[in-house]
Amino acid sequence: MPIEPQPDAQRKTTRRVSVLLPLPLERAFDYSVPADLDPRPGDVVVVPLNRREEVGVVWDCEPDSTVPDRKLKPISAILDTPPMGDTLRQFVDWVAAYTLSPPGDVMSMALRVVRQPTAPATGWRRVTPPPDGVRLTLARQRVLDVLARSEPRSTAELGRLADVGAAVIRGMGDAGLLSSEILPEPPPFAAPDPDIAGPTLSEAQEAAAATLRQAVADRRFAVTLLDGVTGSGKTEVYLEAVAECLRQGRQALILLPEIALSSQWLTRFQRRFGVAPAIWHSDLASRVRRVTWRAVAEGGAPVVVGARSALFLPFPDLGLVVVDEEHETAFKQEDGVVYHARDMAVVRARLCQAPAVLVSATPSLESVANVEAGRYGRVHLPVRHGGATMPRVEALDLRDAPPDRGRFLAPPLITAITETLARGEQAMLFLNRRGYAPLTLCRRCGHRMQCPNCTAWLVEHRARRELQCHHCGHAIPIPTECPACEAPNSLTPVGPGVERITEEAAALFPAARLLVMASDTMPGPHAAAEAARAIEAREVDLIIGTQIVAKGWHFPYLTLVGVVDADLGLAGGDLRASERTVQLLHQVAGRAGRADAPGRVLLQTFSPEHPVMQALVEGDLDAFMASEAAQRKPGNWPPYGRLAALIVSADTAQAADELARDLGRVAPYADGVMVLGPAPAPLSILRGRHRRRLLLKTRRDIAVQPLLRDWLAKVPVPRGGRVDVDVDPASFL
Ligand code: ADP
Ligand code: ZN
Repeated sequence: MPIEPQPDAQRKTTRRVSVLLPLPLERAFDYSVPADLDPRPGDVVVVPLNRREEVGVVWDCEPDSTVPDRKLKPISAILDTPPMGDTLRQFVDWVAAYTLSPPGDVMSMALRVVRQPTAPATGWRRVTPPPDGVRLTLARQRVLDVLARSEPRSTAELGRLADVGAAVIRGMGDAGLLSSEILPEPPPFAAPDPDIAGPTLSEAQEAAAATLRQAVADRRFAVTLLDGVTGSGKTEVYLEAVAECLRQGRQALILLPEIALSSQWLTRFQRRFGVAPAIWHSDLASRVRRVTWRAVAEGGAPVVVGARSALFLPFPDLGLVVVDEEHETAFKQEDGVVYHARDMAVVRARLCQAPAVLVSATPSLESVANVEAGRYGRVHLPVRHGGATMPRVEALDLRDAPPDRGRFLAPPLITAITETLARGEQAMLFLNRRGYAPLTLCRRCGHRMQCPNCTAWLVEHRARRELQCHHCGHAIPIPTECPACEAPNSLTPVGPGVERITEEAAALFPAARLLVMASDTMPGPHAAAEAARAIEAREVDLIIGTQIVAKGWHFPYLTLVGVVDADLGLAGGDLRASERTVQLLHQVAGRAGRADAPGRVLLQTFSPEHPVMQALVEGDLDAFMASEAAQRKPGNWPPYGRLAALIVSADTAQAADELARDLGRVAPYADGVMVLGPAPAPLSILRGRHRRRLLLKTRRDIAVQPLLRDWLAKVPVPRGGRVDVDVDPASFL
């Protein structure tokens, strides 16, 4: 933009401010300030943008003096909404700089609630029983399914959740399938009472709690790793830190990896503090979201328990951040702004002068290394509460005891289940794979059913009679003949998913009451809470589940865990494949024998000698982590070095190759810096886009961000091409 000279005499100084808009922009825009307004940093303002109005936040950066006054547009209004506080604005800038995301995109996560239109006062509920003779299309069925597991929803929300237009919903109202009602305002949050007596803590628990209470009382930033075996009372201990935070009159934030699976946690909170905490996740109804957001901003929500997006809530006085199950990969957000909520929780705590507590029975190597380097403190709970012992873990060599043909449970596991059920105890089978079979092939010509949009096999979901891609959602009815050779009834499932294991278990244990726990059979918090209740009430004998069952459940009557395929996570050369497998299987194993009766765990494996299986059998995770550390140190692999991934994608393979090659040609080159690739991504086609990857690896003392910025600035991205940056990648697909 040319700068036109302005004679000094004529220049009248206009007051200007920078306003950050919730858009993918690199910087804030300048606006002039009308005489009747007095905007301060953090104020939420309405400004003109092109021909519309946009809501933004007055930002701290220096206004851009190259834009002449007369080109500035005035701020339209300051909204009557709590301003975005200093520490939250600093957090937004920090996350943007660290992840190389446009600051506006990051800020929009903190502002989303304000920008939604005023919450509608009416919502839809399903009419039960439905009126006779009304036609149910697939779209209508989706709407009913959504409402079956949710409170009443507004037209817009329902449309989004069920993926239907407003006309469908109104049509269902006219047909008598839905009724509309005035939605009550959600009640304000009652104050949790820190002085309701908690359980009497053991000596070790009390020592740990005292350390954490002191950290909260100090009102300083510090990070503590609270690690202790499964069932050792870590939750009880950190709730004592929350109690101290309440006594200090500050707010506490607790991040859980899957809030929808946390009914047992919420019950415990309620027991300890007398009331429920405020809950935050992306599926909240918009009214609840609005009320919660405002309550947080005004200090009316003393404790928030939430998913990673809760980090962007406007706490005026945050006094404690807890990250439970800190090793969980669910904390890594993979789309939009790509960030790791555990790491950003530590940053948020630092900016707020508050302690952070990271909690896990299987801490990440990152956190362990931070303890070893003296950056984090550590408190440790070595034994299970109340004298419960750790379960006995055995590797079951599938070469010695193979399952029957076409079956997946080996005879010793079947025997163990039979004995457990005969004692009136509960058993669990774990397989981290949804659906019936991961692969379908033609017995005659060998054709494999593949997704047309992705480098992935279609997964059979027999109950739904579909083959589905787990990456893009593409689904087709199960064909009756092979699409390649047209042989009838020749398609056959290969390998097991939980549905197939359930079929096998039903045949083997006809009298047992089975319950399947997988994300597609248990959508939403209500289903998960109901499942937990049924298990606690001993209405279930055998639980069959995916990684959902590994979460922090406490089922006192569960004494046997069978892992159907312990080798599953080890395939594919992911840097953390071993670490993750140990964590996941140890967590699953930790569900067994948490009360009086001892627990037993059987791992079905083809490689019982693998260090992962050995670590699990011996229960010696420390030794395992030490050997992981020893392997990663020499090559500067995380956490002893830094990684950032560039994911190049384009409409055609050729365009992706070219862009990746251009990037490869000007890759940074220096001592302690290395670039791997470009190489086709393991998911080389995803949703029809061709993908290539480059990986930047540096010594720990070298920051990746400046290198990435220089690098990306050298290569123009052509139309249709894209380069996504993933700092500290967790997934290498
Ligand atoms: P972790 O979080 O380490 O897996 P939990 O905090 O869930 O362990 O504790 C396991 C079980 O033991 C829970 O039911 C919990 O209420 C109970 N528990 C732990 N410590 C105590 C205690 N000191 N007194 C009574 N019950 C306890
Ligand atoms: Zn697909």
